[in-house]
Amino acid sequence: MMEEQLAKKLNRQVVGSLVGCVHCGMCDESCHYVLAFPDDHKMTPSYKADQLRKLFKANHDWTGKTFPWWVGADKVPLTDDDLETLKDIAFGTCTNCRRCTLSCPMGVDTATLNRIMRGLLSHVGVMPEGVRVVSKDQWELGNQMGVLKEDYVDTLEWMSEELEEDLGHNEAAIPVEKKGAKVMYCINPREVKYDPRTIKEAALIFWAAGEDWTMPEEGWDNTNFGLFSGDDQLGGVCAKREYEKARELGVDKIVISECGHGFRSTRFEGVNWAAESEPVAMETSVLTMLNYIKQGKIKVDPSKNPEPMTFHDSCNNARSGGFYEEPRELLKLVSMDFREMYPNRAENYCCTGGGGAMSMSEYTPRRLESAKIKAEQIRATGAKVVVTSCHNCVDGLNDLIKHYDLGCEVKQLVNLVAKALVIEEPEKIPEEFKPGDLEVTEVAEKEPLAGRKILVVDDEEDVRAFLTMVFEDAGAEVVTATDGDEAIAMAREHKPDLISLDLSMPGKDGVEAFVELRKNPETEEIPVCVVTGHPEFRQVIYDRPVTPPEGYLGKPVDEDKLVAYAHHIIKHRQERAN
Ligand code: SF4
Ligand code: SF4
Repeated sequence: MMEEQLAKKLNRQVVGSLVGCVHCGMCDESCHYVLAFPDDHKMTPSYKADQLRKLFKANHDWTGKTFPWWVGADKVPLTDDDLETLKDIAFGTCTNCRRCTLSCPMGVDTATLNRIMRGLLSHVGVMPEGVRVVSKDQWELGNQMGVLKEDYVDTLEWMSEELEEDLGHNEAAIPVEKKGAKVMYCINPREVKYDPRTIKEAALIFWAAGEDWTMPEEGWDNTNFGLFSGDDQLGGVCAKREYEKARELGVDKIVISECGHGFRSTRFEGVNWAAESEPVAMETSVLTMLNYIKQGKIKVDPSKNPEPMTFHDSCNNARSGGFYEEPRELLKLVSMDFREMYPNRAENYCCTGGGGAMSMSEYTPRRLESAKIKAEQIRATGAKVVVTSCHNCVDGLNDLIKHYDLGCEVKQLVNLVAKALVIEEPEKIPEEFKPGDLEVTEVAEKEPLAGRKILVVDDEEDVRAFLTMVFEDAGAEVVTATDGDEAIAMAREHKPDLISLDLSMPGKDGVEAFVELRKNPETEEIPVCVVTGHPEFRQVIYDRPVTPPEGYLGKPVDEDKLVAYAHHIIKHRQERAN
C-alpha cells in the first residue's frame, strides 16, 4: 500500500532527492536535532531520508532490485514495530524546516522526502494522535482547532464590541460575509481560540486604513494540516474552501493573517493541491500593513514600541516563501530598537515548533532539547521581545523561552502596528463650514469661479449634467467622475480646486473615496463639498478619522447656493494657504 502511494508521489524533484544523496554529511550541522544530539546518527538528515530511500529502491530503482543488501532495500518496513519506528523518525525528529536543503551540494530536499514519508504513514493510519485529531477536525469542521461556526461568529462580534468600547463608535465593527468587499481576511484558528486580540487589532488597522474588507463565515482557516501530515488530498480540500469563498464573495484578494504555514499552504502549495488554474490573488497581512504605512493610509508612532526587539523568521515564510525583507521593514517602522538575530533569513533556525510539532506532545522533551540553538540565538540579541509573523512560531518560541528562562515575550507584527497606530481625532467642524449652515447664499461677481477647476462626482447623469452646467456658467472648468475609483484617479490627475462629491454611488461610494482622498498625500489638501441626498450624512462621514469635508449641500441643490459655497470654500482654502 505504501509502495503504491509512493509511486504517485514520484516526480523529477522527488526522484532527484531520492537518488542524489551521496551521504557526504555536509547537511548534518544544519539540523537543530543534530546540534542537540551530536552523537546520535539517527538525527542526521540523510538517515531520516534514507528511510524513504529504502522503500523507493526496493520498488522503483534498479539498484534495489539488483543489490538490495547494498542499498538497504532488503530492510523495508514490514511490521507494526517498523512502522512505529518510522513514525517516530518522520514526525518526531524533523520539523520539515528545510534548513538542511540549503547546505546540500546535490540539491536534496530532505523535508520534502520527510513529508512524503509522513503522508505514506498517514495513508496507512500510522500517525501521532495529535495529528489524527487535528486532521479530523479540519476535514469535518473546516478548521484545525475544531472551532464551531457559532463560536467563531461570536468571537468576531465580541471583538467588534470591544472596538466600539475602545473607540466610542461602531465604525470599526468587523464586517462579516460582505459581498463585493475588496479584501477577505483569513486567520489561524488559534486566534479565535487563544488570541482573539489579534483579530481586534487587525480590524482596527483595516478601519484606520479605510479598507473595504470582510471576514467570511466559512472558509476562514488559512492553516492547512495537509502540509504537516503529508496528505495532499486534505491540503487541496482545505485550500479550496478558502478560494471558493473568496470567489463567492467576489473579493479582489485574500489577506492571510500572520501565519507561516498558513501563508505557505494557502499562497503556494494549496494552489497545486487544489489544482487551481486561475488562483485568487493573495497576500500576507505583513505586506498589507506595510503598504498601508507606505501609502499614507495609516500613521504609526514607533516610540510606542520602545523595547529591544529581534525578529524570528518563520521557516515557511522565509526559507520556503522568500519573504525576508518586508517584515523587517515593517518592524523598523513601528519600533525603536531592532536587533538582528544571527543567523537569519533563509539561514535562520526553526523555532522547533514547526511541522505540526506543537500538536505532538509525545515528542515535547526532544523538541525542547533541540531548541537549545534557538535559545542561544535569542539570548545573544539581548532583546526583550521576539517578533515573529507566525502563530505556530509564537507557540514554539513561548515554550522554549519558558524552558530556557530567557525572560522575553513573543509578539507579532499586528500587535506592534496596532499599538503604534496614530488614530487622529476628527477635527472639529469649523463653524463657518457646518453642513448646510454657510451664511453665504450668493456672490456678487459675474463669474465667481473663473479660472477654477472643479471635479463633479456623481453617478447620476442628469445630476452630473446639472452641476456641470451651474459651475461652467459660473466660469469654472469642470471635469467629471461617476464613482469613487474614478474620482480618486481624476483628483490625482487634475488636482482640482474643489471636488463636488456625491456619497451614494455603486462600486466605491463617496464615503470610501472621501477617506482615501484625505489619506493620500497627493489629494488630502483638495477641498471637498459633499452634495448628497444621503439622510445620515453626519454619521457616515463626520466620524471618520480624517479631516471632515469643507462643505455640505443637500439635494435638490439650489444653484446660487452651490456657486456661493464653492466660491467661499475655495477662497477660504486660498486664504489659509497664503
Ligand atoms: S528539514 Fe530541518 S529538521 Fe528536518 S532534517 Fe532538515 S534541518 Fe533537520
Ligand atoms: S548534504 Fe546532501 S548529499 Fe550530503 S548527506 Fe546531506 S542530503 Fe546527502
